[in-house]
Amino acid sequence: MSDSSDTEKAVAAHAGSGKDDSMEKQKAMTADHFRALTRAREEGKKVVYTFVPGNLTELMHAFDVLPVYPEINALQSAMRQRSAQFIGEAERSGHSEDVCTYVKCDLGMIKNGNIGPTGEKLPPPDLLLLSYTGCFTFMKWFELLRQEYDCPVVMLHTPYQSEGRVTDNMRQYMVDQLRNEVIPAFERLTGKTYDEDRLRECLRKSARAEDDMVAVLESAKHRPSPIDAYFGGVYYIGPMFTAFRGTDAAVDYYSTLRREIDARVAQGLGPITPEGEMGPERYRLVVEGPPNWTSFREFWRMFAEEGAVVVASSYTKVGGVYDLGFRHDPEHPLETLADYCLGCYTNRSLPQRIDLLEQYMNDYSADGLLINSVKSCNSFSAGQLLILRQIEARTGLAGGFIETDLVDPRYFSAANVKNRIESYLQMIDQKRQQRRQSLGGSGGSPPPPGSTPLFSPGAEGQP
Ligand code: SF4
Repeated sequence: MSDSSDTEKAVAAHAGSGKDDSMEKQKAMTADHFRALTRAREEGKKVVYTFVPGNLTELMHAFDVLPVYPEINALQSAMRQRSAQFIGEAERSGHSEDVCTYVKCDLGMIKNGNIGPTGEKLPPPDLLLLSYTGCFTFMKWFELLRQEYDCPVVMLHTPYQSEGRVTDNMRQYMVDQLRNEVIPAFERLTGKTYDEDRLRECLRKSARAEDDMVAVLESAKHRPSPIDAYFGGVYYIGPMFTAFRGTDAAVDYYSTLRREIDARVAQGLGPITPEGEMGPERYRLVVEGPPNWTSFREFWRMFAEEGAVVVASSYTKVGGVYDLGFRHDPEHPLETLADYCLGCYTNRSLPQRIDLLEQYMNDYSADGLLINSVKSCNSFSAGQLLILRQIEARTGLAGGFIETDLVDPRYFSAANVKNRIESYLQMIDQKRQQRRQSLGGSGGSPPPPGSTPLFSPGAEGQP
C-alpha cells in the first residue's frame, strides 16, 4: 500500500504535468525493449517469438533472451493505420477473409520488411516458442512463420480446461514438457545452463507486480471508478502481458501506477480518457471480447461521451486471470508456470467464462454486460450469444451486443456501432426506470431475471 505522502506526490505529478509518471515509464520501457531488439544481432542476444496467452516471460529472462509477440505487432500496426494494407496483401497471397486478422496483419508486416512500432526493423526469430493455450489459430500461425524463418520451433501444449478445473495430471504434463522440451530448447539456443534461482528471482518480481496490477484493476469497484478497465485497462496490462513480467522495471511501473490510481480514488476522480477527464459516471459496464484497434480512440470516445465506464473486462485477463488469486510462486517455479498457462482466459471453458463475468457483474456493481464480438477471433466469439443469455438470466441486467473486428478497418462501422451503444444505454435507462417504479409501487413488478429480450440489433441468429 502507498502512504499518504506518496499519494500527494502522485496527485501533484498528475495535476502538474497532465501526464502520469506511469505512462512515461511504460513508454520508456517499450522504447528500450524495441531498441534492444534492434541491436540484438550485434549484441549477440537471441530473439524468441511467442504469444501473449501463456507466455513464459520469466523463463525467457532467466535465459537472457528477448521476446517478440506477433499479436502486439499486429495491434500496433492497426493503431498506426497500417493493418488494412498488410491484411490486403495477405489476402492477395491466398489467406482467406475468415482467417484471424492478427495473423494476416502479421504476415503482411513481415512481407513489408517486418518494421516494428518504432520504425525500425525487427530481427527474425532464433526460436519460435509456440505456447498453445486454447486457440487453435496459434498453431496454424506458427506453421506459417516456420515457412518464413529458418529456425527451430518448440511447442508447449496447454491442456484445455474442458471440465472447468486444473488436475494434477495436467500440471505434471506441462511441467514435463517444460523440463524435457522447452528448457533444453533454450539451453541449445543460448548455450547457457538452466538456472532455477534466476527463474525464482524473476517469479518473485512477477508476484509483486501482479499484486499491484490487481489492486489497480480492482479500484474500479469504487464509485466513480478511477479507471476504465477496458480501454484504459489495455494500457495497464501491457507490461504484465508482454516483455516485462519478472523485471525491476515492471515492479516499478506497477507500484507507480497503483499510487496514481490510489490518488484518484482519494480525490473521487473518474478515469482519464484520450480527451481528458471523463465527465460524470452514468453507466458501469462489464465488457466481454477484445477491443477494436483500428478506431481505438473513436471507439473509446463513444463510451466516454455517454458517461459509460467499463469497470471490468475479460480481455484484460487474456494474458492471465490474476484477480481470482493466482500469483507466480517462486517456491514452485515450473509448477507455477504450468498453472499460469492453464489459467489464462483463452484456456477457460465457456461455463468458467460465464461464472467469471457474472462475478464481475456483481462485484463491480455493473449496470450491464456488453459484448464486442470481433469477426475474426473464433476463440472469443464462439458462444458469446450463449454467454449473453446466461448473464441476463442470472443477473436480470441488460445485455448488449456489438460487432467490430480486431485490426481490419473494413469491419468497423462507426455510425452503426455508435447507434448500437446509444440504444443499449437507453435500454439500461429503461431498466432503471422499471426498477424505480417497482420500488415505488407504481410501475408493477420488475421483469423476472432472464425474461428480458436479448438486446442484439442486427446480431446474427437473433429473432
Ligand atoms: S483467433 Fe483470437 S485468440 Fe486466436 S490468435 Fe486470433 S485473436 Fe488471438
